[in-house]
Amino acid sequence: AAVALMALSGCSTRTDTTGGSSAAAGFPADSLIGIALPSKTSENWVLAGGLFEDGLKAAGFKGDVQYAGASTTVKDQQDQISAMVTKGAKVIIIGAADGGQLGTQVKAAHDAGAIVIAYDRLILNTADVDYYVAYDNFKVGELQGQALLDGLKAKKPAGPYNIELFSGSSDDANAPVFFNGAMSVLQPKIDDGTLVVASGQTDIKQTATAGWKAENAQSRMDSLLTSTYGDKAIDGVLSPNDTLARAVITSVKAAGKPIPVVTGQDSEAESVKSIMAGEQYSTINKDTRVLVAQAIDMAKVLQKGETPEVNDTKSYDNGKKIVPAFLLPPVIVTKANAAEAYANDPKLSPLTK
Ligand code: BGC
Repeated sequence: AAVALMALSGCSTRTDTTGGSSAAAGFPADSLIGIALPSKTSENWVLAGGLFEDGLKAAGFKGDVQYAGASTTVKDQQDQISAMVTKGAKVIIIGAADGGQLGTQVKAAHDAGAIVIAYDRLILNTADVDYYVAYDNFKVGELQGQALLDGLKAKKPAGPYNIELFSGSSDDANAPVFFNGAMSVLQPKIDDGTLVVASGQTDIKQTATAGWKAENAQSRMDSLLTSTYGDKAIDGVLSPNDTLARAVITSVKAAGKPIPVVTGQDSEAESVKSIMAGEQYSTINKDTRVLVAQAIDMAKVLQKGETPEVNDTKSYDNGKKIVPAFLLPPVIVTKANAAEAYANDPKLSPLTK
């Protein structure tokens, strides 16, 4: 009877162990869930859109999946989120185009009673974000740094090795986390002389790739090869994702140089092929199907007026609050374990045969 009464009064039973995030009192099962994704800078975003459409439908929700365009990315996404709020979305799941520029929109979402979930990328400098769901970004960076070292040692047993560093777009909160994770492994080896960043460009500002765009990585690599590697071999490149890894490889090939050890991330089909062909060295498997399912699960739990499970309440300080997070484990993939890593992925598995 007590439960029935509480349900009638709209009051929810909630044990908030997440350090202050809000849980809603539940909402109708066929409510609108808004999905605001950034522009399609990598395959994971393309996959996510379709998976959200299908998954939300299967869960009985109405879904509204939007992508920011390629040019007016930030404004597009701001407008899309505002429209979702106006349409009465109960949960808004956001893969931020620019994590620092959504404060006004997520505040409006909160004011309207919606719950805001940051998806894959954290939303910064606002208290109006309730949850974060992502693969462990620092771990991604650590795995990339370790793969670079392993790949270098496999090619040539002892250093010093000449390497260059690339990082992601400065408007993406993930970019410094990936970079710091990688540098936690690489910096000690730079300090002891095993690794040499021959260009001297080790600062995240120097290594950044605006908009995560392939052409920006390719032209930076072109310049590095000309300025620094005229008479020197380049042994390795830290690349934060697959799109940029392939751009780096294109540049090196065009310069007529042997392909260095190049890391990546996302398990894009073209990169899995490149790994199997012995060109790109590594990628990271962050199965988009699992991440989207996790985000939709959160929406289902919230719909019932319950508190979604989180497993990290200290890593993601967004400048205004520590955002309770559910982090999934990323997996490093090289040619050696690709078949095993993609065994349950019908799209990638055939590429490893
Ligand atoms: C994602 C990566 C992706 C990159 C570019 C990051 O925020 O975590 O998986 O490669 O954005 O789209």
